[in-house]
Amino acid sequence: MSKHIFITGGVVSSLGKGLTAASLALLLQKRGYRVRMQKLDPYLNVDPGTMSPYQHGEVYVTADGAETDLDLGHYERFTGQDCTRASNFTSGRIYSSVIQRERQGGYLGRTVQVIPHITDEIKAAVTSLDAADVDLVLTEIGGTVGDIESQPFLEAIRQLRQELGRDNTLFVHVTLVPFIKATDELKTKPSQQSVGLLRAIGIIPDLLVCRCERPMGEEHRRKLAMFCNVEHELVIEEQDVRHSIYEVPRDLAAQDMDVYVLEKLRLHVNSFDLSDWETMLRQLIEPAHGSVEVAVVGKYIDLRDAYKSIGEALTHGGIANSARVNIRWIESEELEQAGGLARLDGVDGILVPGGFGARGIDGKLAAVRFARERKIPFLGICLGMQCAVMEFARNVCGLEGANSTEFDGRTPHPVIDLMAEQKPGGDKGGTMRLGGKPCRLAEGSLAARIYGAREIVERHRHRYEFNNAYRQPLEAAGLSLAGLSPDGSLVELVELPSHPWFIACQFHPEFQSTPLRPHPLFADFIRAARG
Ligand code: GLN
Repeated sequence: MSKHIFITGGVVSSLGKGLTAASLALLLQKRGYRVRMQKLDPYLNVDPGTMSPYQHGEVYVTADGAETDLDLGHYERFTGQDCTRASNFTSGRIYSSVIQRERQGGYLGRTVQVIPHITDEIKAAVTSLDAADVDLVLTEIGGTVGDIESQPFLEAIRQLRQELGRDNTLFVHVTLVPFIKATDELKTKPSQQSVGLLRAIGIIPDLLVCRCERPMGEEHRRKLAMFCNVEHELVIEEQDVRHSIYEVPRDLAAQDMDVYVLEKLRLHVNSFDLSDWETMLRQLIEPAHGSVEVAVVGKYIDLRDAYKSIGEALTHGGIANSARVNIRWIESEELEQAGGLARLDGVDGILVPGGFGARGIDGKLAAVRFARERKIPFLGICLGMQCAVMEFARNVCGLEGANSTEFDGRTPHPVIDLMAEQKPGGDKGGTMRLGGKPCRLAEGSLAARIYGAREIVERHRHRYEFNNAYRQPLEAAGLSLAGLSPDGSLVELVELPSHPWFIACQFHPEFQSTPLRPHPLFADFIRAARG
């Protein structure tokens, strides 16, 4: 039977619950346990796929094609373990399946209610990860304790403890211990109150993880233990990290958090080796080979979370080269202004990431052109590839007005067009081309050399694609269609053999990069940027 760890959050949102959960999962994995991770989100969208990046940050795509919360990216990057569709449930998804069942007569005769029907559905979602080859399931409850929206989730995990027993369930509460400047002290009261809220609904946390900007000291620890009903050594301190989020596991391990968790769950504390992680941290924090600067030209730059996996994958590329990667985040509209291209001066590499909608496209095209003409290493991802194709069609091939039909339905040269399977006017949610798909790389291509393979699988999230009617003219002008779907019908990756390093792909390599296994495209992009 799989055992369950539940991670809740108190006082404020954005405490880094996801990072704490992912770090704990990594430590438990290093102790020899097989873990799975999951996030329950209280909002009513069925998945975050339809939300603006400004609302939600990045939409993380799993191998099996689910559009999910960006915390799943942390889960995969820390544990190296793929998440699935079962790793993210929203209230919307839970309600929608209950309501669908009701319409089908599944509750015939009964009144359908939050308790027990919604809570049962939540419990089924949690235990859907149980399996013979899974020792521990870590479930993070989104939102903050006390929110109306998260009540059914908390009630469901309370019930699960009753049903599965103390030895098989564990509650971890991540809370804030704020520092008050005026009086120069840390405050435990908000945490006490948030644990009080949990207690009122029948949950007593086993472990308290205290987020703080200064060390807590013995007195605060004692107070928290006393007033939150938590054993003294189970008050864990999680101070703001100095350099990198990848330090969190080391900081938690230093306080034996994983040991206490295993003891509470009556699991054997196996020996432990964090050396690969430590080596990675050294390369990240004290890189031997200096630094490079990469421009990321996007349209949701104000909200860094919108490009979470891109930023992480670039960092991983740096780890692979023992070089620090500094990212110059550039709002693409800035490049559209007179003199705007100066924003790109001195960068060692340019990356144009994915995106939707017409705003900022001209700036992205300008960035592609800058990289192409000045022979600066260029990586285009999803919309970034579509821009690379448009730019090449317009400025090299002479196809004036070449565009994507996403931005101009009447373009004379629709070099990027809606995919055949995408019907205009259909449902918007969950209907893009999603998830891991195979791709065949051309023999002798730069990509095949970088991957060291001809067959790859990468994750997708798009509605538009390279228009095959333009293969011939673009190839004739020097664009290499170096990656195709196995049946040859879809262009998945293009290169410019006349350029030292120019790769643009329809898929999202950033979703498969981890600090211990930097993605080859990002690793080689940074290598090329180092010159
Ligand atoms: N908007 C483009 C499409 O739907 C690109 C999507 C993306 O960059 N993820 O095809």
